[in-house]
Amino acid sequence: MLPWARALRAAGLLRPPGAGPRTGAGPRTGGARRARCGPAQRPEGRGAALPAGPDLRHFLRAAAGEPPEPGPAPGAAKGCMAERLKEEILHREKLVDVVAGPDAYRDLPRLLAVAESGQQAANVLLSLDETYADILPVQTSAGGTTAFVSIMRGCDNMCTYCIVPFTRGRERSRPIASILQEVRMLSEQGVKEVTLLGQNVNSYRDMSEVQFQSVAAPGLSRGFSTVYKAKLGGLRFAHLLDQVSRIDPEMRIRFTSPHPKDFPDEVLQLIRERHNICKQLHLPAQSGSTRVLEAMRRGYTREAYLDLVHHVRDSVPGVSLSSDFITGFCGETEEDHQQTMSLLREVRYNFGFLFAYSMRQKTRAHHRLQDDVPAEVKKRRLEELIAAFREEASRANTALVGQDQLVLVEGPSKRSASELCGRNDGNIKVIFPDAELEDAAGCGAPGRAQPGDYVLVKVTSASSQTLRGVPLCRTTLSRAAACH
Ligand code: SF4
Repeated sequence: MLPWARALRAAGLLRPPGAGPRTGAGPRTGGARRARCGPAQRPEGRGAALPAGPDLRHFLRAAAGEPPEPGPAPGAAKGCMAERLKEEILHREKLVDVVAGPDAYRDLPRLLAVAESGQQAANVLLSLDETYADILPVQTSAGGTTAFVSIMRGCDNMCTYCIVPFTRGRERSRPIASILQEVRMLSEQGVKEVTLLGQNVNSYRDMSEVQFQSVAAPGLSRGFSTVYKAKLGGLRFAHLLDQVSRIDPEMRIRFTSPHPKDFPDEVLQLIRERHNICKQLHLPAQSGSTRVLEAMRRGYTREAYLDLVHHVRDSVPGVSLSSDFITGFCGETEEDHQQTMSLLREVRYNFGFLFAYSMRQKTRAHHRLQDDVPAEVKKRRLEELIAAFREEASRANTALVGQDQLVLVEGPSKRSASELCGRNDGNIKVIFPDAELEDAAGCGAPGRAQPGDYVLVKVTSASSQTLRGVPLCRTTLSRAAACH
């Protein structure tokens, strides 16, 4: 069996070997499950708007107020992986009945109706304007304290290694009014942290409110360039961030995944000034070698990236930084690898997402470059990066020992029922004893902290991934900010 088929079957997306296309009398298969992007891609889009459960058809009937139907459910593959592998999974191997690309979720009822008639159905067309703006998600975190809000889709950057522009299409942004409506709704539901999502979240540009369009193109970070011409007009990310952060002073705002080219000063200033915008930035570097960055077509040099890091640290004191790195990209030498190691050590990130390069079809690298770094060399370089990253993250976190950190409680710690777990402003996990606490805001009697409460914790120890501490009091986001 092909590796991708094994992966899909393991994920419950494929019918068993030899089952062939579904017929009306065939066995019930696992039905539809969400296909996720490759390992180098973090959650994105509005996946929460669709069921992750085993039976999409029954979900659609339930959404339409119809009772569930007896009988077999169609097998379906959805999302960017389905878009990329349509030919193989639908025609060559005849493994599913329905293939829906990331911009075809609204077409699912029709596709399922076609599948019901015994035929295979597919829609993998990419849209220029689909943002699913009017589909509200039905799922937040287990404790209901955090939620993700999709604000834009697609990417225009065309990094040579990346499949996203081909599977997710061109950049398009969701209208600001619809985003604000969703965040207000989440605030009313008691959600305490919202993460704005997009493939290039800070390239946000809402063109729907034409009367407010500015003709000026926002400046790129110094020393950064793009493969596309400057885009004029539209409401930008700084405007959106300003509006979203005004909705609920007790709601933390994060965003991911940004592109380092789109950090104009007004965005950094907002992050510094607003107490509820987390001082945590993801700055994907991908490599520390200018030569490799050029081959990747990232639009910046090592020096420009480091300048940006210093500027961010000057503008937002205490900011927590994370990054993505790919090791073993086409033509990467030992010297290039050492440059990446030194950049990683110099910046001292709190988090990192590190991957060995794996070539993807359709990309520019696939057409023009040689995947010439042997697998064992990629593995060794990755291990070296991980070890260096852990050491530096541990140092960065140890610097927080003795400090008070404001933690948004998520629930009991996984390892001990007598401890609580949450995250600080920098998105670092914090664990502390579940004890009776004073309410510093004076709003309630002493008591134990609950998911969604803010607790001030004095940090007593740190590792590369976690902080531990003693809880001091329950408080609020606004009060904690006023006391600083
Ligand atoms: Fe892919 Fe580059 Fe776009 Fe990120 S910026 S999604 S890596 S093409």
